[in-house]
Amino acid sequence: MEKSLITERCNDITENIKVIRENVAKAALDSGRKAEDIKIMAVTKTVEPVFINHAISCGMDLIGENKVQEFLGKRDFLNLENCQKHLIGHLQTNKVKQIVGQVDMIESVDSVKVAKEIGKHSVNQGIITPVLVEFNIGSEESKTGADINMAYEMIDEIAKIEGIKVKGMMTIPPFSLDEKENRKNFSNMYRLFIDIKAKKIDNVSMDILSMGMSNDYREAIVEGANLIRVGSAMFGARMY
Ligand SMILES: *Cc1c(COP(=O)(O)O)cnc(C)c1O
Repeated sequence: MEKSLITERCNDITENIKVIRENVAKAALDSGRKAEDIKIMAVTKTVEPVFINHAISCGMDLIGENKVQEFLGKRDFLNLENCQKHLIGHLQTNKVKQIVGQVDMIESVDSVKVAKEIGKHSVNQGIITPVLVEFNIGSEESKTGADINMAYEMIDEIAKIEGIKVKGMMTIPPFSLDEKENRKNFSNMYRLFIDIKAKKIDNVSMDILSMGMSNDYREAIVEGANLIRVGSAMFGARMY
């Protein structure tokens, strides 16, 4: 890529991060919280290392990748000394072995089966892997995430698995431009998060509610998210 184009895109990223931070601060205030209470993740799928490193130099200290292979291929080119890494994409059991121990958290645990596999490889490595359990809030056939009606039973079962620590919940609601619809989904998720937190399940610390992406992170924060995952609003439209 031409040098001037790289500089131009880096300048855009700097500006985007500034805008996102301002929006986050506003939405946090609207929900009675402070900007620091909301963690911003830079979602880096399909983004080249030069731009990810630029976002890190702007102060981003958490990145999220969807695919195990893509992350492992890219990470040697990233300045990750002061940056945490989360896996946020659907995880197949046969990929678990490669990712356990390589990221700080797996946010996309959507079955007891995959949780058991993560637990097994964590125990083998002598580590505990922090995870979020991913739920399907919109009940759309095509979406990933576990059935919300089984949330308590599932978290209770996953919490018993050795080598795993449940830290909260994640969701990707169905795409909608209807603000009311978005807010309803987010607030349902928040209510479930609070309900499960109140049950004080052993080995579960319901600290993190990961929801909200480029198009809806403001609504997600207002409804209670404390981790938002922002890709295209930071790096520009993805080119596959
Ligand atoms: C791609 C992705 C995001 C970010 O999406 P944008 O709309 O580009 O912000 C967030 N979460 C998950 C799980 C993703 O796959």
